[in-house]
Amino acid sequence: MIKKVLIANRGEIAVRVMRSCREMGIKTVAVYSDADRTSMHVSYADEAILIGKAPSSDSYLCIDKIIEAAKLSGAQAIHPGYGFLSENAEFSQRCQDEGIIFIGPSAKSIQSMGDKISARKCMIDAGVPVVPGTAASMDEENLLSTCREIGLPVIIKASAGGGGKGMRLVRDESELIEAYHEAKSEAQSSFSSDEVYVEKYIESPHHIEIQFLGDMHGNIVHLFDRECSVQRRHQKIVEESPSPFITEDVRQRMGEIAVKAAKSVNYVGAGTIEFLVDEKMNFYFLEMNTRLQVEHPITEEVLGIDLVKEQINIANGNALRFSQKDIEQRGHAIECRICAEDTENGFIPTAGIINSVRTPQGIGVRVDSFIYDGYEIPIYYDSMLSKLIVWATQRKYALERMRRVLYEYKITGIKTNIDYLRRIMDTHDFVNGEYTTHFIEENQKNLSSHDDNEEEAEKIAVIAAYMDYIVAKNSEFSVTQPPHGDQRPISRWRAFAKQKGVLRI
Ligand code: ADP
Repeated sequence: MIKKVLIANRGEIAVRVMRSCREMGIKTVAVYSDADRTSMHVSYADEAILIGKAPSSDSYLCIDKIIEAAKLSGAQAIHPGYGFLSENAEFSQRCQDEGIIFIGPSAKSIQSMGDKISARKCMIDAGVPVVPGTAASMDEENLLSTCREIGLPVIIKASAGGGGKGMRLVRDESELIEAYHEAKSEAQSSFSSDEVYVEKYIESPHHIEIQFLGDMHGNIVHLFDRECSVQRRHQKIVEESPSPFITEDVRQRMGEIAVKAAKSVNYVGAGTIEFLVDEKMNFYFLEMNTRLQVEHPITEEVLGIDLVKEQINIANGNALRFSQKDIEQRGHAIECRICAEDTENGFIPTAGIINSVRTPQGIGVRVDSFIYDGYEIPIYYDSMLSKLIVWATQRKYALERMRRVLYEYKITGIKTNIDYLRRIMDTHDFVNGEYTTHFIEENQKNLSSHDDNEEEAEKIAVIAAYMDYIVAKNSEFSVTQPPHGDQRPISRWRAFAKQKGVLRI
């Protein structure tokens, strides 16, 4: 029985894992870097061990230091969270070699699924539909003929890829060679491997994923779907469960295929199969993530299952505590990722001191967070501050609730994406659940800042006043012609309207 767990992570996920441990009566050990001395995960844990300097290569990615901390503290198990070492096969193996339980799948599973080419091969062998494309590394010689065979447009992808890096869309043969070399060099610099392959580009797809759990006794269940199509640069921003797009029949089939896929690799632990779903609801395997995902809470809320507790139960060697027929989706959950970023300036991450935080509360509200009044955000890590999760009996009520909690959430001192998320919740496409992975680019205008909207509103008010004026005075100006023949926007319109005494703004 696991009695003490070391959490090889930081931020909200470290705190979230510790919460489940505390409920289970399991002691927790935090590891932290120089930059994280005041982080909430350090104060929350029963013990905390400093493992190195701020850069993650000197701390959170340092296998030796983390293993040493586990031994020093007497932790029997390590939970890797997501990111950092969570999908590092060497780390999983090292834990096993040192007699420490890795709360995650075996090194073999991580390895076979971590490489996209080998994952595709495994899935093809298991009879899982994959995105049409190559099943081997691509060389320049066969590039053109392969792409012609698949049919343009295609995506060139890094085999070791992640986080949307090393990916290039090619719509025209003339772009092929350049895109190939760009993808290769980005792959090399991001993942130290320049292996790339080619996939058919699915137009206007949905990104829908299936959560699953497998135990050491060969039992595997799926935990239904998450819709993750609200993405910026292939990175998820908002997720919801169930997907508003797929039918019950497709949902069932996706679940069954996910179980088949997980069984084919004898998967143990929590995992996710990501699918691309086209307009006709054909679904294709995209990749398998061998860890807890950022968006796992929406599954937890809809099913009433604590995934971290299930991970620990599996790691203890116990059988799953439920079978497929016991698992049922109830109501609807939405998650928004709250990030410290300047949405007006290219979404650059912002650092600094948080003056104050007003956290939303109330029925159906969950905030997975690690920030507090006076907390200084280090520059070294991910910009995500917290996750706002709401649950309600129906999608429309979940949406109303998300709007309310985004209104309540106030973080002062730094810039965040909260207003941007509020605008997402107000778009016609999101409200109607009619969106694909192109949602952000298609809604660029609706998502632009409040300032723009205010300026737009002001302009409309001024123009309306001007039109009233010309109608009233039977002016010689035509409504389509701006006063003074000047096309410069608001200032001239305003000056003119003021001069005529029709406007006092
Ligand atoms: P990464 O592992 O880098 O996150 P993924 O393969 O999971 O990359 O893809 C990330 C996102 O990129 C997908 O959710 C989807 O929006 C887009 N994408 C990837 N492959 C394709 C494809 N073949 N066709 C269309 N969009 C794709």
